[in-house]
Amino acid sequence: MTQESGGFAALGLHSNILAALTAVGYEEPSPIQAQAIPVILEGHDMIGQAQTGTGKTAAFALPLLSKIDPSKREPQVLILAPTRELALQVATAFETYSKQMPGVNVVAVYGGAPMGPQLKALRMGAQIIVATPGRLVDHLRRDEKLLSTIQHLVLDEADEMLKLGFMDDLEVIFEAMPESRQSVLFSATLPHSIRAIAEKHLREPKHIKIAAKTQTVSRIEQAHLMIHADQKVNAVLRLLEVEEFDALIAFVRTKQATLDLASALEAKGYKAAALNGDIAQNQRERVIDSLKDGRLDIVVATDVAARGIDVPRITHVFNVDMPYDPESYVHRIGRTGRAGRDGRALLLVTPRERRMLQVIERVTGQKVGEVKLPNPQQVLDARIKRLTASLTPLVSEAEASHGDLLDRLIADIGCSPRALAAALLKKATNGQALDLASVEREQPLVPGVGAPRERRERDTARGEYRERRAPLPLGEGRVRCRTALGTRDGIAAKNLLGAILNEGGLAREAIGRIQIRETFSLVELPEEGLDRLLGKLKDTRVAGKALKLRRYRED
Ligand code: ADP
Ligand code: MG
Repeated sequence: MTQESGGFAALGLHSNILAALTAVGYEEPSPIQAQAIPVILEGHDMIGQAQTGTGKTAAFALPLLSKIDPSKREPQVLILAPTRELALQVATAFETYSKQMPGVNVVAVYGGAPMGPQLKALRMGAQIIVATPGRLVDHLRRDEKLLSTIQHLVLDEADEMLKLGFMDDLEVIFEAMPESRQSVLFSATLPHSIRAIAEKHLREPKHIKIAAKTQTVSRIEQAHLMIHADQKVNAVLRLLEVEEFDALIAFVRTKQATLDLASALEAKGYKAAALNGDIAQNQRERVIDSLKDGRLDIVVATDVAARGIDVPRITHVFNVDMPYDPESYVHRIGRTGRAGRDGRALLLVTPRERRMLQVIERVTGQKVGEVKLPNPQQVLDARIKRLTASLTPLVSEAEASHGDLLDRLIADIGCSPRALAAALLKKATNGQALDLASVEREQPLVPGVGAPRERRERDTARGEYRERRAPLPLGEGRVRCRTALGTRDGIAAKNLLGAILNEGGLAREAIGRIQIRETFSLVELPEEGLDRLLGKLKDTRVAGKALKLRRYRED
């Protein structure tokens, strides 16, 4: 075990859980975890107030997993979450954290899917139920004893649940559980309605609040970029093209992410290395020395591993994963702007982390303006600018040292000076794309985040909520088409693009924006000849599944 796992070990968690945490690469508890885990382990009721992205799932999942009895094949823990997506996320987290605990089973119960398999899973002896309130009430109507063995209840994102109108369902669920249970409530805000629930259904709850202290950050220019989580690596690569950095530190949350990003950067030719808690102390010092003297330009680090780094060369901090709280944000960006120099800090924000961004702005008292991903033209301009900068100091001296050689080569090859200079450029730039068409071809498509904010809409037929993003404005002469395949089916923009190019016989330019979502994707196609095109794509399969592209009706 590495020294950092000590952070979790000291909290009194079960050794099997500590082993699972080492496997997922968490190095130390986030603030809400450090505070909530001991309280929940001791069996208290609790109210935890913290923003999205602060690590609340593990804050309740880890202690509750430590408390259940895997040998009892009956429901012991109930987690209520506002939406199907969140319920699935929580269920997946429980599965991850209980990997080393044989006999522990989790069932997710949510609307929009048949009840039969959920019921079967419940009867197979799952100890942990993760549910949306609406569907759970449906199950309770069929089996009123369903929750009679529950010993621990968690209301996750309680304020969201109330906003979505689940109050009555919650009352039904509370009544169906033993009064002796432990109840834990998490919420970003504590409006009156939540306090009323706590008053009525919690027993002497302990309050935990991750307080945000005001911090100052001067001389650091801050910006954020909205991005979907699966596009972060592409986004970082593109940002690096245009940012003029000397040395840069990129922060991520897990050890695995340090390795993944560092190798993606190395593959693109950057001098990059990972820094995480698994790396021995002397090796870490070597990494930092290399960053100091320029043998490395980029270090991808977790918070723990980056502690105390003081390297004046660092001009940029990329917050690739959100920090847990504003304090650690301030701490991270303080790695740049050292010794009175100016620094630049960039924060990648996924749609569900918007609120954390607002908290950071409030606490630091500064606006963190939005930047967009550079487009291919900007990437190209930046490349040419760098090329120009690298050649300019050479021209004066190189003519003296290499001018005669140039004359000879022109004579020997029998070409024009322009042709020879072009050949030398090509060689010197190692085949890097330096015209617009090539840069466009080379840049991976990065689907945008819908503006201005995600909407949660009620799909009344199913009584469930789904996350929807407003589609981007449509290009002229194009229509949007939809397929029910998305990231969930292992689809990326390039698969979709490839299939349409190959089987539809279209030119690349004919295809507009592609937006890949979890459960569906949208692609812009020319309105002219659309029916013929859709006919050609009738039987097309992508990632082994039927594409079934259809014209999408905008609403
Ligand atoms: P919240 O419920 O507060 O919005 P989550 O529980 O969904 O936050 O956690 C957000 C992300 O942080 C997840 O990807 C999770 O895996 C990661 N995470 C949580 N705790 C830790 C930790 N101690 N170390 C590293 N990553 C963590
Ligand atoms: Mg959560």
